[in-house]
Amino acid sequence: MVNRRKFIQFSAFTGFASLLGKRAWSADGMETIKGKPIVISTWGSGLAANKGAWEVLGKGGRALDAVEKGVMVTELEDNCCVGLGANPDRDGFVTLDACIMDEFANCGSVAFLERIKHPISVARRVMEKTPHVMLVGSGAQQFAVAEGFPLEEQKLSPAAQKNYENWLKKSEYKPPAINIENKKDHGPFAPNKLESGEWNHDTIGMVAMDTNGNMSGSCTTSGAGFKMRGRLGDSPIIGAGLFVDNEVGACTATGQGEDVIRVAGSHSVVELMRQGLSPEAACKKVIERIIRIKGAKAKDIQVGFLALNKKGQHGAYAIHKGFSYAIKTNDMEKMIVSKYMME
Ligand code: ASP
Repeated sequence: MVNRRKFIQFSAFTGFASLLGKRAWSADGMETIKGKPIVISTWGSGLAANKGAWEVLGKGGRALDAVEKGVMVTELEDNCCVGLGANPDRDGFVTLDACIMDEFANCGSVAFLERIKHPISVARRVMEKTPHVMLVGSGAQQFAVAEGFPLEEQKLSPAAQKNYENWLKKSEYKPPAINIENKKDHGPFAPNKLESGEWNHDTIGMVAMDTNGNMSGSCTTSGAGFKMRGRLGDSPIIGAGLFVDNEVGACTATGQGEDVIRVAGSHSVVELMRQGLSPEAACKKVIERIIRIKGAKAKDIQVGFLALNKKGQHGAYAIHKGFSYAIKTNDMEKMIVSKYMME
């Protein structure tokens, strides 16, 4: 029988434990926190996106719904980096890439998708309604239309039109170095608006854990501004731009997609977390790997990783100064400056 004193001690302890969130253990031996939802997402636009995600997470909803709803906010922002308002490819067309992954390792992706407002939702439909993981180009668009997504007008936003006209003056046969100019001017929280008024980075990646301790992630982008027509980066590629393993954690990437793909970036970060590294240490290891591969060229590219593990710990690392991420939990909502390797 539990006497009164022990009972009081016991209930004080369990009260404290439920305040901290319940703990469970995954098959990989990773401690899981339940009852402590959390969402993190890349760059300054992540603040608004996290609020969108919180409409789901705050009510005890599923992380998958949260990460879709969250990045949909960014896809609608005008003059930004994601969605139909973003910079076009070098032929003047906005082409969008997105992917999503849930706690069961279900995943869906679209790439080179034109004239659709919410590529993330099309990616989710690919995951849920087809036997495939990835649809691209006209096939992805055809699927989206068949699913009831309206085909939007093919028109650049006023900001993108201006940026494109500027770019056409030189028509350099390469996109600007993704994210790199950002470090110079605008402080860590600005969503990469350059001195020239151009938007440079073009992605939001988001990972979340819901009240049941389940994780999901999403990533959506217009890729690199003024890219070659048909170019895909890391963002729609499961394992590169995004990876979720509900036993271990989740990671998303931003920056020069080609160099994220080279190291299967987000998957590598999750595998390092599986071996026991913290999110920040795992992100750092993969950043170091990219720098080793790139050698002197690393100074010209930016890559940032953002990760969350099953304990609710989060962390990021970037090649250069300037990367930041937004976080939201029950008790806080803020931006965090990522550590980096190079000034
Ligand atoms: N990773 C994206 C890409 O390469 C771009 C970005 O993060 O800004 O398409």
